[in-house]
Amino acid sequence: MTKSIIVLIRQDLRLHDHPALYKASQEGKVIPLYILDEETSPASTGEAKKWWLHQNLEAFQTSLQTINGRLWMDRGKVENVLPQWVKKTDAQAVYWNRVYDPKVYERDLTLARSLSSQGIDVQTFEGTLLLPPWKVKKEDGTPYKVYSAFYKSLRKEEIPKPLLPVKKLEVPRLGAEGLSLIDLSLKPSIPWFHIMESIWDPGEEAAIKRYHSFVQKSIEDYAERRDMPAEGHHSTLSPYLALGVISVRSLYHSLLEMGGTQVEPFIKQLIWREFSYSVLLQFPESTTRPVNEKFKKFRWKKEKEYWNRWTRGETGYPIVDAGMRELWATGFMHNRVRMIVASFLTKHLLIPWQEGARWFSNTLIDADLANNSMGWQWVAGSGFDSAPYFRIFNPTLQSEKFDKEGTYIRMWVPELKDVPSKHIHKPSEASVEILEGAGVILGEDYPYPIVDHKAARDRALDRYHEIK
Ligand SMILES: Cc1cc2nc3c(=O)[nH]c(=O)nc-3n(C[C@H](O)[C@H](O)[C@H](O)COP(=O)(O)OP(=O)(O)OC[C@H]3O[C@@H](n4cnc5c(N)ncnc54)[C@H](O)[C@@H]3O)c2cc1C
Repeated sequence: MTKSIIVLIRQDLRLHDHPALYKASQEGKVIPLYILDEETSPASTGEAKKWWLHQNLEAFQTSLQTINGRLWMDRGKVENVLPQWVKKTDAQAVYWNRVYDPKVYERDLTLARSLSSQGIDVQTFEGTLLLPPWKVKKEDGTPYKVYSAFYKSLRKEEIPKPLLPVKKLEVPRLGAEGLSLIDLSLKPSIPWFHIMESIWDPGEEAAIKRYHSFVQKSIEDYAERRDMPAEGHHSTLSPYLALGVISVRSLYHSLLEMGGTQVEPFIKQLIWREFSYSVLLQFPESTTRPVNEKFKKFRWKKEKEYWNRWTRGETGYPIVDAGMRELWATGFMHNRVRMIVASFLTKHLLIPWQEGARWFSNTLIDADLANNSMGWQWVAGSGFDSAPYFRIFNPTLQSEKFDKEGTYIRMWVPELKDVPSKHIHKPSEASVEILEGAGVILGEDYPYPIVDHKAARDRALDRYHEIK
């Protein structure tokens, strides 16, 4: 008798380089199963990511149909729902690609033990990263805490070649029908996602197309120009990586085949992702607690008015406001701008990084526990290999450097679109005549800065000296 295998689908909504699906397809009848677990799915992040998950589950469903398969869906606690599916489908095996959110990882270990003890063949695979996060370690067996050393070490490793896309599935006839995508209620009932819909095409075909277009147009300029938010020389692949719509191993090997020095800066960024996961799995508390113990005593300030202005993009610092508005409208923000807004929140406004990380995971479609925690701790100065706390970004200088003509600002802060480039980075220092000429009255059309840069910087440094 051919065996029936449940493939638990999570952060791997693709047919290419899908180790669990690939192996199952060669061994028996396959039941791809997605279980929405509100506590531990990617959906437990925010509304924007839920919308993105809906779009990609739909695309994945269609991909599976093209290879004679289908996607079964259900909801509830995985540890309860999965064993029910094993029973009602008479499955002899369960395969999954590992997920490294510490809660999920621990839960899966327990689940695997419990299913195995009932005679079910449980097999787990690497489908999220280049290598399992425990693989790259120092010679003494401890995890790396410094990115550059981690990078060098990982680059020496042999990365498994990606698997070919699954071409055909045999699925069993099942009485158990499960739920429909609509039943999962991931898509908001009020359609606030029109801009996102016009920007983000779901599915692996779209992801692969985006990658090829990035390589063609931008890989040569990536190292030099990726920091310029208006220029679009970054890949925008993070939303696809966050749900595993594209495989990082496929990207890596494609870049190696391409060769040349221009691919290395991009590979370096992919390895930052690996580093984040290594930190996440080995220091799970880093998602909520500062890695650097000293920061436990840091005197943060929770001022509601500041918080509201930051989230709405009304701080009076145009580059910060542009970033926060881009995030709200598109579910994405450019990396350099993420650093600027995060620095502004934690250093100029002294609001805890954990609050910012929560806002990001609620609003980003690429919300990713590992990258988000690492990004925020890096900026706040409390993580491994972080920017030192005393290096406080001056948002105006950052803006002048990376958005010289104010193109990015004009796109997201349209009330400033006619302000000359020289003044757009800090309208509060432009004369009334210049602002009038651009149709701007400060305090009415656009806010005054909520804090003075120098005073805020001094205050942040004072707080830092208290814990140093
Ligand atoms: C405060 C803060 C929060 C962040 N939150 C997230 C998050 O929730 N999800 C997320 O995917 N990234 C996060 N990042 C990292 C980074 O900003 C995004 O990965 C990047 O902007 C995505 O755009 P891209 O795909 O065009 O990147 P590219 O420049 O094209 O890079 C390619 C890929 O490399 C990886 N990568 C690039 N930069 C980093 C980095 N600094 N750390 C880890 N991986 C990286 C990503 O997977 C990215 O898709 C955060 C950074 C900061 C400073």
